[in-house]
Amino acid sequence: MKRKPIAGVYQIRQISTGRLYIGGSANIYKRFGYHKSRLRTNKHWCKPLQDAWNTKGYNDFTFMIIEETTEYLTREKAYIASSKSNNPEYGFNTHPCADSIKTHCRHGHEYTPENTRYYYNNSNDRIQRICRMCNNHRYKRKTPKI
Ligand SMILES: [Zn+2]
Repeated sequence: MKRKPIAGVYQIRQISTGRLYIGGSANIYKRFGYHKSRLRTNKHWCKPLQDAWNTKGYNDFTFMIIEETTEYLTREKAYIASSKSNNPEYGFNTHPCADSIKTHCRHGHEYTPENTRYYYNNSNDRIQRICRMCNNHRYKRKTPKI
């Protein structure tokens, strides 16, 4: 059975330590499935989370929706900040975890929802953000001059 996509912010919580992984997605249940399949096959991009999963097993983890919202990119940042889940003591959102907490591309453009495109990179198994502005520049460079 297919569930209707739910956009929002979610958490993966380790019960024994209370540590959190917080993420945002346009389709949370699909993302949960993706996290679980990576964790089960020992291929999750977030090493601290994978290590905890390997040590304690899946019974030590709960997957939960925190907030249903289409503004999940900004809300996700707020939840990461308030829960300190980017501090290894409290969570798993440490670099280089994807659902990246980077706020700007390397050319300094902000990753606003309008300026962000998501891309699943097969070669390194990461969900990456693409800056639309830079993408446009790249596109323009490729366009032949008349
Ligand atoms: Zn950019």
